[in-house]
Amino acid sequence: MTDIFTIAIDGPAAAGKGTISKAIAARFGFAHLDTGLLYRAVGARVLAGADPIEAAKSLQAQDMERDDLRSAEVAQAASKVAVIAEVRAALVDFQRAFARRAGGAVLDGRDIGTVICPNAEVKLYVTASAEVRAGRRFKELTGKGEATSLETVLADVKARDARDMNRAEAPLKPAADAVVIDTSELSIEQALQIALTEISALK
Ligand code: C5P
Repeated sequence: MTDIFTIAIDGPAAAGKGTISKAIAARFGFAHLDTGLLYRAVGARVLAGADPIEAAKSLQAQDMERDDLRSAEVAQAASKVAVIAEVRAALVDFQRAFARRAGGAVLDGRDIGTVICPNAEVKLYVTASAEVRAGRRFKELTGKGEATSLETVLADVKARDARDMNRAEAPLKPAADAVVIDTSELSIEQALQIALTEISALK
């Protein structure tokens, strides 16, 4: 199918939006872009000494394939570069082109429904309490062998939430017309079912 159809999925870290986005993309045969990876790739280059704006302007596909992008250190660096208006501006065209590619697209991030794709056909805002999200991220990080504590992860999640929600440029918030899914007390399967029901109603 060649239809243009955009599903925008926003929300804070570890709310489940990545898992839900991948499952939705697989279900409908849509392409998926985890936009957090763009900011993580810029953050990783800044940790290695690059200028954030130059790094964003010269971002290459292989920068998104580095295997250290999922670390807690890179996550914090990503949310620091993400407050810079010029960094965000440098990443807009790529995301918008991806969203309108033939065959349909799912993009997940923080500002997809509000800034990148305000006309997306479906907008979801996936959230959960900071404690539940920290618990999930703690499991994920320790599962990968990263040495950390639940307290550290909770503090990181809260610091990132505050930075993402309070920045001047494209702050994290649900679009006025987004469907909000709180996954605090839901399994991934339950949250996915709700998302699929919403999409089917709009598709
Ligand atoms: O989603 P993920 O945790 O990988 O995102 C890392 C950071 O990148 C976020 O904390 C946020 O600051 C930034 N980001 C953003 N806008 C997006 C996606 C991610 O500002 N669309």
